[in-house]
Amino acid sequence: MAGNWDEEYDVVVVGSGGGALTGAYTAASAGLATAVVEKTALLGGTSAYSGAALWLPGSQVQARDGVGDSTEAARTYLRALLGADDTGKQEAFLREAPVLVGELEADPAIEFRFRVFPDYYDRPGRVPGGRSFVPLDIDAAELGDLAPLIRPSVERNRAGEGHAPGPLSAGRALIGRLLLAYHRTGHGVLRLGTCVEELVTNEDRVTGVVAVREGRVVRLGARRGVLLAGGGFERNADLRRAHRVPGHADRAMAPLGTNTGEPVRAATAIGAVTALMHEAWWCPGVAMPDGRAGFVPGFTGGLVVDAHGSRYANESLPYDRFGREMAADPARTPSQVIFDSAAGGRFPGIAMPPGDPSEHLAAGTWSRADTLEELAVRIGVPAEALTATVDRFNGFVDAGRDADFGRERDEFGHWFGDPVLRAVREPPYFAARLVLADLGTKGGLVTDVRGRALREDGSPIAGLYAAGNTSASFTGDCYPGPGIPIGTAMVFGALAAKDMAG
Ligand SMILES: Cc1cc2nc3c(=O)[nH]c(=O)nc-3n(C[C@H](O)[C@H](O)[C@H](O)COP(=O)(O)OP(=O)(O)OC[C@H]3O[C@@H](n4cnc5c(N)ncnc54)[C@H](O)[C@@H]3O)c2cc1C
Repeated sequence: MAGNWDEEYDVVVVGSGGGALTGAYTAASAGLATAVVEKTALLGGTSAYSGAALWLPGSQVQARDGVGDSTEAARTYLRALLGADDTGKQEAFLREAPVLVGELEADPAIEFRFRVFPDYYDRPGRVPGGRSFVPLDIDAAELGDLAPLIRPSVERNRAGEGHAPGPLSAGRALIGRLLLAYHRTGHGVLRLGTCVEELVTNEDRVTGVVAVREGRVVRLGARRGVLLAGGGFERNADLRRAHRVPGHADRAMAPLGTNTGEPVRAATAIGAVTALMHEAWWCPGVAMPDGRAGFVPGFTGGLVVDAHGSRYANESLPYDRFGREMAADPARTPSQVIFDSAAGGRFPGIAMPPGDPSEHLAAGTWSRADTLEELAVRIGVPAEALTATVDRFNGFVDAGRDADFGRERDEFGHWFGDPVLRAVREPPYFAARLVLADLGTKGGLVTDVRGRALREDGSPIAGLYAAGNTSASFTGDCYPGPGIPIGTAMVFGALAAKDMAG
């Protein structure tokens, strides 16, 4: 039933991550009455947890900060990785990225700066030190009443805490800055605790959404259109199973209660087509005592072995690439990170959240032993194989060259700390359980260069748009560099809003 709205806007944006808020800001800046509709009580989704590295190449930020980047170099890099672009989306992204950055930074609330973070592949067009950038931190006082609405960091949010004292940084700064800019347009409202479950159509055009708020059904009209930017479906175990997504809903990094895929389901119910539904942005995760996982963006030492006690990859690969190595063989989940006491028995990497070693040891997610043989028994891998693997690895460390996997070779590995190769010789020894985790699924609605959702026959559904992990990423099974998930979400969120603005 069309009409009979409880509330009516020009644009309804579903979700409140980086893509959603960029779309909402762009629409509201064009004078369109806009509503951001978020199912949880907090804004920002996984984007708020993130480091907010943004892969938006060839912009004024790289030029200003002296980075040797250009649209042409980024095009070369993407082509080398992704191949020919028959959808036009690579090109649309490359064209829009610098335009969007200019528009965002024209707003006094938004400012970015370059930060070294290498691209993930050694391919033509790669820029040494990377090309992604981050938002400047922002004081909570500047955000006023908006600050407590922003989801805190993964560590604090999981511990049930609010923001740390001091300015909001990384993903919180991105969400905060976009939110402030959106708020100041005077054309946007926020609707929290409102879960969108269906789309309303009138003569093949999407005209609004049906949502549930506090157990009550609400109908929100959208005169110009609906932008679905409600993340992926990584937190939905049934959908993961149905689409054969490796990993586990409980080990996804999305905040609890967020991304369970209603937006994609609502769109397919009216004829939208999906792609890449088995794909995700992968990462290794430290198994946590509560059954969840902590994202490991990089290792600073140790080595990783499978159920046979063997190494299988360069541990310093970018996280999505290491995750794909884990997914390639069932003997690799769980894996074990083997490390020693040289650094006081601290986990040799960045884990988010870090977890408490004594809790890990008590829960059995970590093991400790005075010899490698004993450690092997504790973690159930063949003792001879484990000792041989560690001996061989230590030999590589002494020689300064990982003859099996070239761990010392790529600049990405060095970014988390030199030396990349560190011996494992000082007892007691530790093993930390490592599982396949993800930063979100990346399959979803097939969209065009304007962010419009398409039908099976390739025609656009009038009034329906998608961005971020609700849409199928044009990067396919590749994660080219830091900031691609949010960078691409922001670009297609903005393109969708511009299409709606006409
Ligand atoms: C620790 C960490 C660091 C990361 N660092 C980076 C980085 O530096 N750069 C980068 O590009 N990526 C990074 N990522 C990955 C990135 O954060 C995510 O892939 C990306 O933020 C997903 O954006 P999204 O807008 O699609 O979804 P989200 O940001 O998860 O937002 C989706 C929102 O939609 C809401 N929602 C869902 N369903 C509904 C519904 N039915 N109705 C209403 N609302 C709904 C959810 O509650 C959620 O708030 C990182 C991830 C993690 C965990």
